[in-house]
Amino acid sequence: MDLTRFPRVRLTQSPTPIEFLPRITEYLGGPEIYIKRDDNTGLATGGNKTRKLEFLIGDALAKGATHVVTQGATQSNHVRQTIAAAARHGLKATALLEQRVGDAHDDYYANGNLLLDRILGASLETRAAGSDMNAELEAVGERLRAAGEKPYLIPGGGSNPIGALGYVVAAQEILWHANEHGLHFDQVIHATGSTGTQAGLVAGLQGLNSGIPVLGISVRAARAKQEENVLRLARQTWDLLGLPGELGAETVQANSDYVGPGYGIPTPGMIEAVELLARFEGILLDPVYSGKGFAGLIDLVRKGHYRKGQKLLFVHTGGAAGLFAYRTVFTPENESWRHPH
Ligand SMILES: *Cc1c(COP(=O)(O)O)cnc(C)c1O
Repeated sequence: MDLTRFPRVRLTQSPTPIEFLPRITEYLGGPEIYIKRDDNTGLATGGNKTRKLEFLIGDALAKGATHVVTQGATQSNHVRQTIAAAARHGLKATALLEQRVGDAHDDYYANGNLLLDRILGASLETRAAGSDMNAELEAVGERLRAAGEKPYLIPGGGSNPIGALGYVVAAQEILWHANEHGLHFDQVIHATGSTGTQAGLVAGLQGLNSGIPVLGISVRAARAKQEENVLRLARQTWDLLGLPGELGAETVQANSDYVGPGYGIPTPGMIEAVELLARFEGILLDPVYSGKGFAGLIDLVRKGHYRKGQKLLFVHTGGAAGLFAYRTVFTPENESWRHPH
């Protein structure tokens, strides 16, 4: 699959490593668990949005943009990476932050990603929970145009067909690694939200005829809605790549059993997943996405969903900066795992 016709800047230290997790594999006693370290993409504490931004910033520069505008939740990892990517390329950045998580601790509104956003130097505006964030994004674009700027609007999570190309690249890396090391992965599994990660992985892994299925663990939407949204973007990405025919609906699989009470709201499973991966492997997950994603993996293994000897590849999509906004969640009272060794 040739991606050279798409404008791209380099932001990612890639390929990101794929590592075997021996201790968590042994502890869970099921399939072999591998992890792709997209938490180590290398831009201002890393994460999955960096891959998308290679193509989005490339497109923005090709179009002569002076200013990047995007939106996300208060603790958005996407917003943090977008501001950093804009800084690297001399673009101004404005971010609209939806106060999506109610009743959060003070840290939520000052620490974690938000602290990094301030240091990275964007213009930050807040919007109330439930705002039409796409309409808000358009309105800010109009305002900047009227002021003589050339704004480039990036949707929430960088999830459009251009952004999803970043995860087509990740699919190429996964298949290359699998072939190079003689590893057949039975499933790729990761947290899914704004859908670009899963859409790019599905389009890439299917387009490369890898036969590797992808399971998205939803952090927000119900299963049917999430699958519909991922499939729509995966098909748009397929078309952008110029692949023949139509992507089958059966290639998109999501599971929304691990959302808990809602987006960004902690669950016992998330706390356990974060603590287990930290204590068995020295790897930091995040409270909003990868923690819930890995909680799904743990639960499915415990329920006997996989056979021993199968190989799962968890894509660590980053977000550990968000832990600092959830300080009060990781307390001794909430501790789920009391025998770390
Ligand atoms: C955005 C994000 C996701 C979800 O990726 P989408 O492409 O939005 O579905 C997963 N993990 C982390 C840490 C994220 O920031």
